[in-house]
Amino acid sequence: MEKKCFFCKKSYHLDRSDPQYMKISKNPKASYVCKSCNQSMQKDAQTSTGLHPDMIDSHDKFLT
Ligand SMILES: [Zn+2]
Repeated sequence: MEKKCFFCKKSYHLDRSDPQYMKISKNPKASYVCKSCNQSMQKDAQTSTGLHPDMIDSHDKFLT
């Protein structure tokens, strides 16, 4: 399926290997965030909270 990244507005083709595929297939209105935006968000979250990015699900935090 084609989704536009919520942040950079580039179009991406999602397949079943994408971790967000299941979420978006269940909820087509859910926003997609591409890997590079996801990573930069995690860096931001890490800087602002001091937590390791693995401990934060930035994607859900920002979009729910
Ligand atoms: Zn993006």
